[in-house]
Amino acid sequence: MSKGSFPIKEFEGQRTPFYYYDLDLLRETLDTINREAGKHEGFHVHYAIKANANPKVLRVIRKAGLGADCVSGGEIEACVKAGFPSSKIVYAGVGKCDWEINLGLDNDIFCFNVESIPELEVINELAAAKGKVARVAFRLNPNVGAHTHANITTGLAENKFGIAMRDMLKVIEEASHMANIKVVGLHFHIGSQILDMGDFHALCNRVNELQDELERHRIQLEHINVGGGLGIDYQHPNRVPMADFKAYFDTYASRLKLRPGQTLHFELGRAVVAPMGSLITRTLYIKEGSTKKFCIVDAGFTDLIRPALYQAYHKIENISSDEPMEAYDVVGPICESTDVFAKQIDLNHAHRGDLLAIRSAGAYGEIMASGYNCRQLPQGITSDELT
Ligand SMILES: *Cc1c(COP(=O)(O)O)cnc(C)c1O
Repeated sequence: MSKGSFPIKEFEGQRTPFYYYDLDLLRETLDTINREAGKHEGFHVHYAIKANANPKVLRVIRKAGLGADCVSGGEIEACVKAGFPSSKIVYAGVGKCDWEINLGLDNDIFCFNVESIPELEVINELAAAKGKVARVAFRLNPNVGAHTHANITTGLAENKFGIAMRDMLKVIEEASHMANIKVVGLHFHIGSQILDMGDFHALCNRVNELQDELERHRIQLEHINVGGGLGIDYQHPNRVPMADFKAYFDTYASRLKLRPGQTLHFELGRAVVAPMGSLITRTLYIKEGSTKKFCIVDAGFTDLIRPALYQAYHKIENISSDEPMEAYDVVGPICESTDVFAKQIDLNHAHRGDLLAIRSAGAYGEIMASGYNCRQLPQGITSDELT
């Protein structure tokens, strides 16, 4: 079984656990995104900064020319600081605070993705107070179910996100009477870790129907934003180190009918950064239970919460040992029974001190770390710094 290649010698001097970011893989991924999206007229990719806001990572993504997708004022601040042009910043979220809206207005961001009429009214008022016109897109809930984990579907009628499709004309009409609002687009986001292109195809059909309806009312919008959600292969990080960007962009190019001059915007998070990150953790103890062996490591769900929160699978490798495989439960030190990274997985025979790599952890890893149990936050270390 092949393992990832890691600079083990350089790892030895680091405080564990830490995130290791392979920036070569990130740059290769960004090149592929630019190449595949660039084949289609009017495609614009924004990086969903909530997946990983490490400044060293943001700098690489900004250099590749991607825009940014923010879901909080803090994220707007982080991407402005990282040098993303505000003309490429979109800002979504069901509960935007006044200071966050003001921050977006002060920075003249590309677009607010608006999720309700009360929010639209507040943006109009705050923009008026500044003598500005806010550019907004309405986030519509397309009632398209993504075939992914229930906690990460967002496009069903029962979810808290977005405005119901039947209200689309009503909200556009209301906005047309607001002096400090300019409606520039429609926004959608159906969920995350989506591998079935059929789900995106279903979204395209829905967008086409809505655009036909707009056309009947002689409404034309500058852009459509279809959100993110493209998934990666968590099972085979070595064999499949990159999401299928070609299939993804080609699906939209062939299925979504853009109107003349319209641009199509994407908000990719996970697919950009997940594969390039690994959580590196040290084996503290091998404990022989009555029926199984536990590999107790120094990382816990405070460092990577996805397995505990979403029952997510991450491939784990013992990068310090080539000895024969054995089955282990890999568990952390936190006082909760959900602090388990994997049950009954095969690892090369493990000893105290061995380093394990928990793979595909570059998205929703470091950024979701917490200080529960008064634990230190894990650091993010890049390949550029080590080699
Ligand atoms: C989380 C989120 C994204 C990114 O989702 P990924 O699955 O990481 O690609 C994009 N847009 C919005 C509005 C989001 O909330």
